[in-house]
Amino acid sequence: MKNTFHALSMANEQIAELDAQLLKRRLRVTESPCDTEVIVDQRKLHTFCSNDYLGLANHPELIQALAEGANLYGVGSGASHLISGHNIAHDLLEKKLASFQSKHIPNAGALFFSTGYLANLTAITGLIKLAKPGEASIYSANLNHASIIDGVRLASIQSKASVTLFDHQQLEALTEALKKDTKPLKLIITDGVFSMDGDITPVKALVEIAEQYDALLLVDDAHGFGVLGELGHGILEQFDIRSERIIYIGTLGKAAGVSGAFICAQAPFIDWLIQKGRPYIYSTATPPAIAHALLKSLAIIESEEGKARRRQLSQLITHWQNEMHFSDWEKVASCTPIQPVILGSNANALAAAKLLNEMGYWIPAIRPPTVPAGSARLRITFSANHSIEELKNLIQALQKIEQQVQVGKLA
Ligand SMILES: *Cc1c(COP(=O)(O)O)cnc(C)c1O
Repeated sequence: MKNTFHALSMANEQIAELDAQLLKRRLRVTESPCDTEVIVDQRKLHTFCSNDYLGLANHPELIQALAEGANLYGVGSGASHLISGHNIAHDLLEKKLASFQSKHIPNAGALFFSTGYLANLTAITGLIKLAKPGEASIYSANLNHASIIDGVRLASIQSKASVTLFDHQQLEALTEALKKDTKPLKLIITDGVFSMDGDITPVKALVEIAEQYDALLLVDDAHGFGVLGELGHGILEQFDIRSERIIYIGTLGKAAGVSGAFICAQAPFIDWLIQKGRPYIYSTATPPAIAHALLKSLAIIESEEGKARRRQLSQLITHWQNEMHFSDWEKVASCTPIQPVILGSNANALAAAKLLNEMGYWIPAIRPPTVPAGSARLRITFSANHSIEELKNLIQALQKIEQQVQVGKLA
């Protein structure tokens, strides 16, 4: 008799159901480096979808720095940071990352991670452990990144932290809730730049609230680091913020063009996370060669070249905001390289992405649960390697496609 295999039939059924709802996700394989043109299925596509905002992912000096790092330190770290994996390249990188925020966070230290996902899990679960179980509360912006949501869930299970969601565009509710909160530890968490909308969090107001109600403020600047501020140091530089209450998260696989992430905060918080941050403690250290390449990336971010790259980005953003007109679709008033076009239904978003692909563009449809139901969109992102000419062509293509999708809807 053939044994039943419930798990496998459940997998098949669930996937078929996702497919029927137009929610099945598929991987596409690139055959070339990340850049403004990539090869997919032997076709060259114009990409407006990566987070490589400064166009550094395929930069010759970074390629060389990674090779140099491998020559100096080999390819693997061999162990977690606390065992034997913490290399001088990691140490130099952490010092440099801390120096980027030292004007904004007094007595700043930094801790390097292999991913932003791990950095958020570590920061949130680790900091909450400063209080006894049940004695901490978390206030999390409702459009925060999935890694924050998961960190908050884990902290609420591990430490019985209470969790309140807030709307970053309406801070009165947050203030009211904090007024009544008598817990000794309060942590407010926000994305710096909201990753699916491109708008910037009201960081100044949030810092004031944190100061007034004795809270910590965690800012996940995954999309601001390298992009915001004259020197590319991120959201705190852009808004000239200084506070000892900030826990700053930056990621290094987006504008920095390589891989990894970091937490920057007052030294005692960093020291605490080295003691208690389980995802940090129990992960193998990132290859030191990556840290070595990142040192080069940070140097470029701060340099004249970095400034020129940010100027190009801001020209692209201005051109898009001024010249992109839709009749039915909605663009968003975003001043960052994330420029979503809201189409509403999953079917429309998929149809638009498919037509774009036929015209030689790669702009994926973003659907729930990544964005709220009914707000499926094209998430368009700019890189400093895009020219204004390429952007003009994209605008024309989108206008043509909007008409085609509208006609398709009537049929
Ligand atoms: C991408 C992203 C992360 C995760 O960073 P990875 O290094 O890709 O794991 C965290 N937070 C936000 C807001 C992000 O956009």
